[in-house]
Amino acid sequence: MSREKHDVYITRQLPRQAVEMLKPECSVEINPNDRALSRGELEEAIKGVDGIITLLSDNIDAELLDLNPDLKVIANYAVGYDNIDVEACSDRDIAVSNTPGVLTETTADLAWALILAAARRIPEADRYTREGRYEGWGPMLMLGSDVHSKTLGIMGLGRIGKAVARRGSAGFDMDVIYYNRSRDEEFEQEYGVEYRPLDELLEQSDFVSLHLPLTPATEKLIGEKELDKMKDEAYLINTARGAVVDENALLHALREGKIAGAGIDVYEDEPKLTPGLAGLDNLVMLPHIGSASVETRSEMAVMAAENMLAGLRGERMPNRIN
Ligand code: NAP
Repeated sequence: MSREKHDVYITRQLPRQAVEMLKPECSVEINPNDRALSRGELEEAIKGVDGIITLLSDNIDAELLDLNPDLKVIANYAVGYDNIDVEACSDRDIAVSNTPGVLTETTADLAWALILAAARRIPEADRYTREGRYEGWGPMLMLGSDVHSKTLGIMGLGRIGKAVARRGSAGFDMDVIYYNRSRDEEFEQEYGVEYRPLDELLEQSDFVSLHLPLTPATEKLIGEKELDKMKDEAYLINTARGAVVDENALLHALREGKIAGAGIDVYEDEPKLTPGLAGLDNLVMLPHIGSASVETRSEMAVMAAENMLAGLRGERMPNRIN
């Protein structure tokens, strides 16, 4: 006698590996449209399923969970899980997982792409060249800032923060300092990285790169006061979550030259942009593509599927967070 399959919903098309892994044990339904689900669609999708694979754009709150008292598993297709009310899930015995580790190096690469792009004005120079404005080598043309041998300040020395720090100290001969909730003396010694209290990190860094999760403690951690503390010639890089930065304060700091520039992959109210940001030449803007390599997105799909299957089987999910 064949066992009944579990019902699983996936809120957006993912790399094919996820569905292939789930199929033998699950009836899988996928959002047919290449866009995030609306709230109404998410409410319909969650009803009656045993498990759901969610994205960072899906707001999973208590009200939504109450639409399906039988939901057992949520596998988030991201390492950050600020889109999920994890406490509400625990109260309802819903197991929740994320995809840590597999996207670390890919996201660190992107943070580095932003550091170099902002400092050396790459998107601006690209636009200039394409627009046919390049009329020959110029001694003062598109001068940017050096990156090598500068001071890199890492906020959040976790998996991604460490990967960014390693690239800075080994590849670019930088002095690397960090601010974190806890200290990692082994990492400090191995890579010559030094801890600083937040204010000192802001005052001393030429590049401040954010790698903290979005939590009540980190929300708007970088506001007007913190941007004021940064050097005029410093750059802010954000591949963490948009709401760690007060976007209006950043807009003003960039407009008024309180910092030299910024590179951001994430926004306070994605996908909306604070009006004015897109007009700034000293800001490099990306559409949240930190983990967006073919290899990494496939690994994330496998990981989400493994978590989902383990959760549905009643086994320990490899990346359970509650
Ligand atoms: P992680 O390994 O958990 O690292 C987070 C670090 O932040 C930890 O070292 C943690 O310190 C520190 N931290 C947490 N709360 C803090 C606080 N209030 N004050 C100071 N430090 C604090 O996470 P990860 O894998 O590196 O990922 C970091 C974040 O990057 C994710 O949460 C996600 O939002 C974002 N992300 C974005 C993209 C993208 O596409 N742009 C891709 C991947 C990840 P302790 O160890 O002391 O707790």
